[in-house]
Amino acid sequence: MPIQILPAILANQIAAGEVVERPASVVKELVENSLDSGASLIEIEIEKGGHKQILVRDNGNGIPQQELALALSRHATSKISSLDDLEHIVSLGFRGEALASISSVSRLSLSSKPAEQNEAWQAHSEGRDMQVQLTPIAHPKGTSVDVTDLFFNTPARRKFLKAEKTEFSHIDEIIRRIALSRFDVAFSLKHNGKLLRKYPAADNSVSKHKRLISICGKEFGEQAIELNSQYQDFSLQGWLAPPNTAKPQVDCQYFYVNGRMMRDKLLNHAVRQALEGVIAPEHQLAYVLYFSLDTAQVDVNVHPAKHEVRFHQSRLVHDFVYRALSDAINQYFSASPQAGNE
Ligand code: ADP
Ligand code: MG
Repeated sequence: MPIQILPAILANQIAAGEVVERPASVVKELVENSLDSGASLIEIEIEKGGHKQILVRDNGNGIPQQELALALSRHATSKISSLDDLEHIVSLGFRGEALASISSVSRLSLSSKPAEQNEAWQAHSEGRDMQVQLTPIAHPKGTSVDVTDLFFNTPARRKFLKAEKTEFSHIDEIIRRIALSRFDVAFSLKHNGKLLRKYPAADNSVSKHKRLISICGKEFGEQAIELNSQYQDFSLQGWLAPPNTAKPQVDCQYFYVNGRMMRDKLLNHAVRQALEGVIAPEHQLAYVLYFSLDTAQVDVNVHPAKHEVRFHQSRLVHDFVYRALSDAINQYFSASPQAGNE
């Protein structure tokens, strides 16, 4: 076969393989877009575990009519415009890929109304094999993205979708993680018409604590050691289950870097190392940690789904996190000496 440039739809579907693994990854991308748009309220509605429908509605800044079709194109973003911007990313998105990818493997409607526009408009696409159609629609300020029939045109991918319940539990988990990253934003999650989660906006320590408890459990919320460490431009805040909790919350292991949720080997290693020796082998780690540093010190453009980052001074980061946790644990033991003799 001679070398040829792939048609746009196929290129987008290939990219979708990296970004859109399952319904929960669609939810993640859409909710991150809502957060980037400055929304204070984000409503998520799911039908049949996302097999049938994923709807994300926000009250953010919206997309002007003349940019709606562009928003669905690959490499189209309002978040960066230069290499310099790439080194100082403050938004969750920047690759301009999510909507293009999702719309290439689903039927997608994007409806929006910016505050300064009188009417709302909707762009509709089906697998992106035709021109995007724009129609006027009723919609309050903000944006809704309605994704139906995920993978309808990629049967091989559709086959890999798990049972409704499993896919929904992945979505639920994504919303928990995101809700822990933005206490100031209200989230709600419906499944098959039923309201299952409601996280009201939390602006003081009492309401923040309430959200922490509703996500990580009462025990964790009440017993967790609170962290607050600074070193130069590094800071580590959050909560850590005391090493001797009898019934540790196994499913709360969240690490955020500059507000972005991460699965990072280096950071996980620092956490494990700090707890080694003080935590009984049968006890699972539980933590919700927020690490922040200068955006120029970290490269977020490592993985399409942005689960990983690269630190310019990785040794320093590792040692800071390790030290901050070790200090907090030592302090905890010295404040309650009997805690260690369980
Ligand atoms: P990225 O987030 O990397 O820029 P996306 O494909 O996710 O790429 O989105 C493309 C563009 O569409 C965004 O840069 C933004 O301008 C616009 N957009 C997407 N979702 C929303 C939303 N909910 N509210 C406002 N603008 C949005
Ligand atoms: Mg995005």
